[in-house]
Amino acid sequence: MRRKLAAGNWKMNGTRADLAQVDALLKAHPAASVDMVLCPPATLLAPMVERAGTCALEVGGQYCHPNQTGAHTGDVSAKMIADAGARYVITGHSERRTDHGETNADVLDQTLAAWDASLTAIVCIGETLEQRDTGQTLTVLASQMVGSVPEAATGANIVIAYEPVWAIGTGKVASLDKIAEVHDFMRAELTDRFGTQTAGAIRLLYGGSVKAGNAAEIFATSNVDGALVGGASLTAADFAPIVAAL
Ligand code: 13P
Repeated sequence: MRRKLAAGNWKMNGTRADLAQVDALLKAHPAASVDMVLCPPATLLAPMVERAGTCALEVGGQYCHPNQTGAHTGDVSAKMIADAGARYVITGHSERRTDHGETNADVLDQTLAAWDASLTAIVCIGETLEQRDTGQTLTVLASQMVGSVPEAATGANIVIAYEPVWAIGTGKVASLDKIAEVHDFMRAELTDRFGTQTAGAIRLLYGGSVKAGNAAEIFATSNVDGALVGGASLTAADFAPIVAAL
């Protein structure tokens, strides 16, 4: 049985004052029956871990370099993220793929680095509007999964997030039919590659304009095990009801 997961990606938002949101979230969900993860900017990893204490909230990074140490000014390694007390890291977010030219091969290497540091990787995939409009969605997703998900994937070391690029921060959500089609396809691809048992243990998240108002119907969709939430994860007032909808 896959445990549901609500993950929040704060992107390049948040200063220490925003850690008050952690208190409010934990007040709303002191012992959540689902997994809750917040991925703040690197500056807030350690203080957020401290603020969360031993409670129901896990913390994650938003990116990790493929190497654990070295001359890479401005980068952060999986080992450092783990050292801050985080347990997860996002790899392959479309904003990284676009802003930093990260390829599937880069994402695969980052995911391997995450595993080296005992982090669970939340690997993101998703098609652009142009790819969707030209009927390439499933082909693109298949090649992203082959290219960025390493061979040794298990239900414990990886989560895969489907985030259609055109749905991120736009208020446009993929239709429930499309989400079901894609998530069923992802499960089938994983089953072909890893077998029923492993594929059946890997959690698949939907991301892209998830809000309190649409979360319940998205979570009721086939093969959706939770969400990766951007804007609506920044405050407990928005995120707590999404967690409750799981
Ligand atoms: P929004 O929820 O703001 O659309 O962002 C989704 C996302 O990119 C999460 O990683």
